[in-house]
This record gives sequence, C-alpha cells and structure tokens, in this order.
Amino acid sequence: MDLTQLTLNTVIETKKPHPCGGLRWKIVRTGADFKIRCLTCGRVVMLTPDELRKRVRRVVEEES
Ligand SMILES: [Zn+2]
Repeated sequence: MDLTQLTLNTVIETKKPHPCGGLRWKIVRTGADFKIRCLTCGRVVMLTPDELRKRVRRVVEEES
C-alpha cells in the first residue's frame, strides 16, 4: 500500500475488522501519525504510518 494514496477523507478497508465488526474506516488525520474513524461505530484510532500500511487491504473510495 502506497501511503500517498491515503489522504484525508479517504475511505479504506482493513484486513481485520474492528471489534464492532466494521471493516471500513475514514482517514481523519494524516501526517506523522494517522487517525482513522470506524464508519460503523465512530471510534477513532491513532496509528503510525507503518501500522496503517499493514492494516489496509484496499482503498474503497476517495471523497473530495
Ligand atoms: Zn468500530
């Protein structure tokens, strides 16, 4: 996964589901650390770029 694809408001799908069962997340912060919000339960998780790269399966869509 190329992290340059993971810009603000991009929706991604992770390899493993959140405990709530959700697979889709929106990127709500980029930079030295990333924050992603679970689209199912709304919880926000902070990840390092490396952690994020390992978790992402694919980009679902990009919103403007
Ligand atoms: Zn969730």
